[in-house]
Amino acid sequence: MTTLDDLPLRDDLRGMSPYGAPQLDVPVRLNTNENSYPVPDAVVEAIGKALQAELRDLNRYPDRDAVALRAELADYLGHGLTGDRVWAANGSNEVQQQLLQAFGGPGRTALGFTPAYSMHPLLALGTGTAWVDGRRDASFGLTADEAVAQVEAHRPDLVLLCSPNNPTGTALDPAVIEAVLATAPGMVVVDEAYAEFARPGTPSALTVLPGHPRLVVTRTMSKAFGFAGGRLGYLAADPAVIDAVQLVRLPYHLSALTQAAARAALAHRAALLATVDAIKAQRDRIVTTLRERGHTVADSDANFVLYRVGGDQKATWRALLDRGVLVRDVGLPGWLRVTAGTPEETDAFLRAMEDVGRDPE
Ligand code: PMP
Repeated sequence: MTTLDDLPLRDDLRGMSPYGAPQLDVPVRLNTNENSYPVPDAVVEAIGKALQAELRDLNRYPDRDAVALRAELADYLGHGLTGDRVWAANGSNEVQQQLLQAFGGPGRTALGFTPAYSMHPLLALGTGTAWVDGRRDASFGLTADEAVAQVEAHRPDLVLLCSPNNPTGTALDPAVIEAVLATAPGMVVVDEAYAEFARPGTPSALTVLPGHPRLVVTRTMSKAFGFAGGRLGYLAADPAVIDAVQLVRLPYHLSALTQAAARAALAHRAALLATVDAIKAQRDRIVTTLRERGHTVADSDANFVLYRVGGDQKATWRALLDRGVLVRDVGLPGWLRVTAGTPEETDAFLRAMEDVGRDPE
């Protein structure tokens, strides 16, 4: 049998395994920060109609520039944005890959502040961009001074910030973003996949866009919109940044079906985004309950919560799975991450955690 070792694979990919959380068939799946609520019937119907209307024309390539969709995404974002300042692709992962292809690549460097979204270093690897693992403090905080010192030390071509940060859940102080922008010699990308879940008083980096052509804010319909299966991510930036990603995007990367489904979903955004408040309520309930039980819990502006289990998080992860609850071991010793889902899922998670208990620190 031929194995990977027999193929002339790139040296830097040898010995690696594909990224991905376990997709296990268990009653309570709280491990990938999906939106637990299914698409409402009225929206299912609207998306169905929109897809149907495309089918006869599937002999033709789709609108390569996704002009209508981008204008509608700009309208959703507000902040005076227009379609020429927005770009869309198959998930914000693809958007970020395009940014690294355009602004990173061989001989260039990207800096992120670990722990953050674990795909960022992998996207750097895939695009041949050198990755620098920046540091956070012991409680996962990042001050403007610390961030600036690391940007000055490494002079990266791209800085990747994640706010609210995955896996910690906490949004960045906007002062950090502004300080990094003032110092960074290259592009500054703020990954705002969870922006819609932020606690009040957490401004989006979109507010900083005017006058900052090297700032890019990435968003997704995978979380708040409950549209992860639709694969639609997007960015907002100066029109010149959109010119840059168009140099590396594949022609017709967004299928006619994806564009039509996303537009129908956006047209029904009130119904889809109606789940956000319910999810935030469960998020806050998880934070409060775990703290009452003595766990250390990171502040969350997202649809998930990072909490300390003490001892060996792998054992707690397994014990929760044995009770039908799948959470995420993000590889931080002593910590686990749980997605906030429906009230029933939160009940099941909190019950299982009570059962499993907390190891003494
Ligand atoms: N950024 C962050 C911080 C994420 O957590 C995720 C999803 N796990 C993504 C981006 C990618 O999401 P998508 O490709 O579905 O838009």
